[in-house]
Amino acid sequence: MKKRNWLVWVCLIVVLAAFWGWRERKFIERYPPENPAWNGEALGTFYSVKLVGSRLTNEGLERLKTAIDAEFEAVERSMSVFREDSDISIFNRAPVNASVPVDKEFAGLLKRALEISDMTGGAFDPTVGPLVELWGFGRDGRHAHTPTDERIQAVRGKTGWQKLSVSKDGVLTKNLDGLMLDLGAIAKGYVVDRLAVAIRGAGIGNFMVEVGGEVYASGRNSTGLAWKIGVDSPLLNAAPGKRLVGIVSLSDRAVATSGNYRNFFKGENGTLYSHIIDPRTGFPVQMRQTGVSVIASDCATADALATALFVLGEKDGLALIDKIDGVEALFVISGYGVCFREATSSGFYETVNYEHLDSKGQTL
Ligand code: ADP
Ligand code: MG
Repeated sequence: MKKRNWLVWVCLIVVLAAFWGWRERKFIERYPPENPAWNGEALGTFYSVKLVGSRLTNEGLERLKTAIDAEFEAVERSMSVFREDSDISIFNRAPVNASVPVDKEFAGLLKRALEISDMTGGAFDPTVGPLVELWGFGRDGRHAHTPTDERIQAVRGKTGWQKLSVSKDGVLTKNLDGLMLDLGAIAKGYVVDRLAVAIRGAGIGNFMVEVGGEVYASGRNSTGLAWKIGVDSPLLNAAPGKRLVGIVSLSDRAVATSGNYRNFFKGENGTLYSHIIDPRTGFPVQMRQTGVSVIASDCATADALATALFVLGEKDGLALIDKIDGVEALFVISGYGVCFREATSSGFYETVNYEHLDSKGQTL
């Protein structure tokens, strides 16, 4: 009797263990890790996504990845100047006064871009493309010589954000012959915002999404704290994340950075010409090695303002940020050797959790 009892118990335990093992296997087959992360290439740059505490099944995760690819594709199809058949390219080839219909996302982004042009006194100008080409930062690549003053002024005459109109129903018109659009300085931030909407739509509240260095951080990271994002030292050609000047901790906010330490050329006299053009002069911004990071509640605004601040410079740029609610900025400007000076908007240290790192520039 006793022996039989014992046998029943052993059988029961074996059956339970087998069931448990089967269930675990099914669970692993069905669910990916709780904190899935992946990266890829899109819009001519790299992107990465990190999810925390995701309850998505494998199929759910695959669906989200497909939705993210679809967002990139939609943005490229309508706003990429590198595609001949995109709406933006069609607009760029269109004659003066022609009506060019675009989808409501494109029209919405362009309206936002024009608001930022207005807000920044034209320092951010989405019609600056021909000057970008002229200075050798566009599709045709570098030119052997810097352009003549005459040529610069002639091309500048074909730019101007005020020479563009967007109707309520999404019809674009250029009021100046040769006017072209280039949303490169806001597009990465904009796509980050779209990806954040797609991720939230999949029921995930804790995540970080980054496209070409522009970031949106939602909720908490895997340690339950705000997301930590490194601010790069503006060292010439240093790889992203290699040398940091500081770390910002963000939750439900975006950060975008513009700088002249990665995409630049040196003129005949050794001056550093950045890929950001001052639309008011037609010349590339010439500054010491500088990085400017902007923190805002959405990444499109942060991205566009970072470009604008780069044009405006430290004094005017920070004065502008102080007038905009919910936006903060940090300039990191080279001094001598590896020393950098920081200058911030007046609410930066109060409203942004920022940890300054020493000059050895530890990494995260
Ligand atoms: P990056 O992350 O590459 O530094 P930015 O967001 O700073 O990019 O935008 C740079 C791109 O924006 C340039 O390559 C150019 O196409 C365009 N651009 C340059 N100057 C301006 C400007 N003043 N306003 C708007 N767009 C600009
Ligand atoms: Mg930008």
